[in-house]
Amino acid sequence: MRFLTLLAVLLFFGGTACNSQAKVQTATPEAKATTTDAAPDYNYNPPAEAGQFEKIEKPESYWQDLLAPAAYNVLREDGTERSFTSPLNDEKRAGVFTCAACGLPLFASETKFDSGTGWPSFYAPINDVYIQQDVDNRYGMRRVEVSCARCGGHQGHVFPDGPDPTGLRYCINGVSLNFVPEADLPQAEKN
Ligand SMILES: [Zn+2]
Repeated sequence: MRFLTLLAVLLFFGGTACNSQAKVQTATPEAKATTTDAAPDYNYNPPAEAGQFEKIEKPESYWQDLLAPAAYNVLREDGTERSFTSPLNDEKRAGVFTCAACGLPLFASETKFDSGTGWPSFYAPINDVYIQQDVDNRYGMRRVEVSCARCGGHQGHVFPDGPDPTGLRYCINGVSLNFVPEADLPQAEKN
């Protein structure tokens, strides 16, 4: 699916934004019903033991059935949502941001900050092993792609211009995240 980043990269502008809008999503946002027989909770589906998980490998048809078109475009085709379009950009409640494809908890509200880019931004992931990073040196730019380490779903990019304490800016597409408010988390996750 990486080849589809070509469009996004060609239209890339500036060093502060995630990248540019590659495709205009006109599809309706409602999610398709999942047809899996043993459907996990895709909003919040952490591994039983923190840090331990098996990779999820499914055919593209599985993700197409599971995900709404806009989410599929980002998660499986490396698309980029239009900036300032995700309600999660302004989400300020306490809680956890999970992979919209598989429910792995990727970011916590404590590390979210307003980057001004129009994309949800975090200075650190919940667990480094939940984030896959791939250096992308194509087209004369060095960018680091960020994906969910469990399902491989594209999330965004990480840049070295974030705030303390890490100096990193994880610039993430809101459509590839779900937000789970703290009140909805299992008791053990709240501390
Ligand atoms: Zn995932």
